[in-house]
Formats: sequence, structure tokens, C-alpha cells
Amino acid sequence: MGINYIYPEFEVIRDTARCIACRVCERQCANEVHRFDAELGMMTADDSKCVDCHRCVSLCPTRALHIEKSRHTFRENANWTSDKITEIYRQAGTGGVLLSSMGNPQNIPVYWDKMLINASQVTNPPIDPLREPMETKTTLGAKPKKIERDNAGRIIDNRSPRLTLSTPIMFSAMSYGSISYNAHESLARAARELGIYYNTGEGGLHRDFYEYGPNTIVQVASGRFGVHKEYLETAAAIEIKMGQGAKPGIGGHLPGTKIVGDVSATRMIPEGSDAISPAPHHDIYSIEDLRQLVFSLKEATNYKKPIIVKIAAVHNIAAIASGIARSGADMIAIDGFRGGTGAAPTRIRDNVGIPIELALASVDTRLREEGIRGDVSLLAAGSIRCASDVVKAIALGADACYIGTGALIALGCHVCRTCHTGKCNWGIATQREDLVKRLNPDIGSQRLVNLIKAWDHEIKEIMGGMGINSIEALRGNRLMLRGIGLTEKELEILGIMHAGE
Ligand code: SF4
Ligand code: SF4
Repeated sequence: MGINYIYPEFEVIRDTARCIACRVCERQCANEVHRFDAELGMMTADDSKCVDCHRCVSLCPTRALHIEKSRHTFRENANWTSDKITEIYRQAGTGGVLLSSMGNPQNIPVYWDKMLINASQVTNPPIDPLREPMETKTTLGAKPKKIERDNAGRIIDNRSPRLTLSTPIMFSAMSYGSISYNAHESLARAARELGIYYNTGEGGLHRDFYEYGPNTIVQVASGRFGVHKEYLETAAAIEIKMGQGAKPGIGGHLPGTKIVGDVSATRMIPEGSDAISPAPHHDIYSIEDLRQLVFSLKEATNYKKPIIVKIAAVHNIAAIASGIARSGADMIAIDGFRGGTGAAPTRIRDNVGIPIELALASVDTRLREEGIRGDVSLLAAGSIRCASDVVKAIALGADACYIGTGALIALGCHVCRTCHTGKCNWGIATQREDLVKRLNPDIGSQRLVNLIKAWDHEIKEIMGGMGINSIEALRGNRLMLRGIGLTEKELEILGIMHAGE
């Protein structure tokens, strides 16, 4: 007892020749790393509190700071890594479950990086997206099984309600409470300007954001926080959250310290009470039960809203998705194990679930084999990092992709993975007023708009190179992908050939 077993993970390196003791770093750091020592007349740092969020580094006017990963070493080996040793010290000190934020950081194959995209040469010429039309507009929802006409021969519009996106990208579910008001506003405004959708997550919809309803997907999760008729009616679509890629099989927990003011009113729970979502929906124990909820929500909204069912990518995902496709849902969102989160038990985040690439390919294959692929749209989520990931996801069978962590990075997140502390120095994963105002929604929404527009340009360029001029022609077109360094089994599940074939 009394011994501090854990050596700080990071070292704050200050160039004293450059530092002018302006104390910006002291004011900017919510973790209270920096302090002005009046006796010494200089700045000092407590390395043990540093989370490497780069706020001080980015704002230091003289570039006097940088953060280094500590050179302190354990006598580690391939089995007992520094992380594993530190985790045991931490648990031996607290007796508690380890908590983490953001997605799974483990060194497990990222299949996006093991797939290469085709380009046309000679016989099937590429298309120049600057000179020829290129369609990235995407429609989501069930496709009619057959075309029906009235007596005058006019086509009867018997399509179920759907979503139309200017490009096949949406912002993932992130609740008000886990992210700040200003982050939420940035996402909502960007979605409206881009003609896409953002997702409330399970925290309800703040009154101020009802005006963004036509670009809002609202969630109905196991805790039913903030769910009422007006909430459902305001949205463009409703998502039933059955699972989340970062923590499959468990519920959610937003600590009472974050349930303050408007967050508590929006969730419809008392201030200071923990928001605990149960692991299951207590009214869903079968596909038939899920079907009842799907139709209850449709009934409550006059059959005007498409229903999405969101599930975590897990072992028997294809069979689960097949059931959901028969439940009356219009879309299935599949969230891979690298998906981000505000807080998850570390063991769950790092060990449960499967990669989105394998899950998506196996679901698309199964639904095609069963002849029900047109009954639902597939949304891929869980670490979509760039435009080529989107193209690969669509070629594997997705209709559109959700991005979460990527959107937060556009807002300034430095992926320090300490969202669960509520002290986000970038004003994103926090409810502290002084921190929230650091994120300007004017700038935030513009940065999100820039990001998605840039990706849209890149998607068009890549599609043009393939000689494809619409998302429709790319969807499920696995001939456009080749694997590199993959086993026969991996190629079989992905449904693609190896490079060179
Ligand atoms: S922000 Fe930079 S210059 Fe100002 S006190 Fe900190 S290290 Fe020194
Ligand atoms: S949202 Fe904030 S706390 Fe969370 S990883 Fe990003 S910078 Fe860190």
C-alpha cells in the first residue's frame, strides 16, 4: 500500500527556452496537468494526469510543448505487455471494471486495408467525374417486389417510406449527454446542409433540435429514454437499437454526473440519476417480439417512417439479419467491433464482436441467397475511416455507411480515448459548460460539411476509375474488389477473389 505502481503513460516535454509562461496550457487543460509555480517562476506539469489530447500542444502560442509516449518500460514480453501489467495494477488498486472509450484498438486485421479496388483499362473505359454525370444520391428502404399499374397504366407508388441521401454517408448514433449540445448541433446542421441524416442515439431529442427533424433519425433503445409520440413523429426515421459494435451484449451506462440540466429533461429522467439501459429490450426475446415493436412504431407514426434495426456484428450475424429482414424493418444497421463509444468496459470493447467487413459480406450473401435482399437496406458502421472504406463497404453489399468517430475527429477530437471521464478538452464528449463552448457549431458544422463533400468527390473519382457511374451499380459488386494477403476462408466469406486472379 502507498506505492504508486503505475508510471505515467505520457511525458509532457516543455521547451523552457520557448515557454513565455502565458499559462494558456494551464487554462486549457481540464485534466489540470499544467501549473504555474510562482516560487520557481515557471510552468510545471503533472505527467500522471495527461491523456495526450493535444489541446495544450495545439494552442501553445510558442510551440513550446509536445507530448511523448513515456519511454519508461516494463520488463514486458509478447504475453505480458505493458498494457496488461498496468491493467492488473489498476484493478488491484480499485477492484473495479476497467472502462474505455472509442473503438477497439487491438491489432486485429483491418480488412478494408486488405482489399484493393479495380480500375478500368482499355475495354471498359473509366469515366471522368468532372465531365460526365456521376450519381451518388442514394435511396434507403425496402424495394417493391413488383411494379403495379392502375387501370390507366400508370405506375402505382406502393413503396414503403424511405430516406434519400445526397451521398451514401450518415452520422452515427451519438446521444446528447454522451456528446455535448454544440457537437449535437454541429451534426444536425451539417446533416441538413448536406441532405443526409444524423442520429440522436438513445438520449432523446433536445427541443432545440426539433427543427432538424427531416434530417434526424431517432433511436428507441432498451432504456426508452426520451421516447414519446412527438419525438417519433418529428424524425425522418426511427432506429431500434438492439446492440452496439463497441459493446455487444451489454447495456449502456451514462453516469449521473452527466445527467444534468437539459440532458436530464431530454432523457426524461431526474438530474443526477444514472441512465442505465438494460442489456436486452425487456419486451424482445424473439424475432416475433421485434416484429411487434417494429409495427408498434409504424402504427404510432401512421406508417410514414422507415424503421431501422441496429445490431452489433456478432458470430451468427447472417441468421440474425435474415430474421430482422422478415420482421418488417426497412433497414438493418450493422455495427462492427471497432465502432466508437463514449464508455464501454475495456474487456468487452476489446474482445467481443467481429469486424464489420466480414459481417457485412456474410449478411449480404445470406439475404441474396434467401431472395430477400431487396426487402431491406443495409447500413454499415464501425470504423469507416475514409472514402475508400465507403466504396469497399458498398461493393461488399452496403447501401450506405454510418460514420461516428470520423465525424468527431472532423470536430476536433484527437482520439485520446477518455470520453468516459466527461472532461473532453475539445468540447465534444462533455457537459461542462466551459468546455462545451470551445466547440463552435458554426465551425463544427462547416468542417463536417467539408469532410463529407470531400469524401463524395473521392467516391466519384474512385467510381469513375472503375467505369461505374452510380452507387446503384457499385452496390454488392464484389468483382470490383480483390483481396491481398488473405486466407481462402477470409476470401470466401468476403466473396472476393485474390489479387492476381
Ligand atoms: S501555453 Fe506554451 S507558452 Fe504558454 S505557458 Fe504553456 S507551454 Fe508555456
Ligand atoms: S471526444 Fe474528446 S475525450 Fe473523446 S476521444 Fe475525442 S478528444 Fe478525447
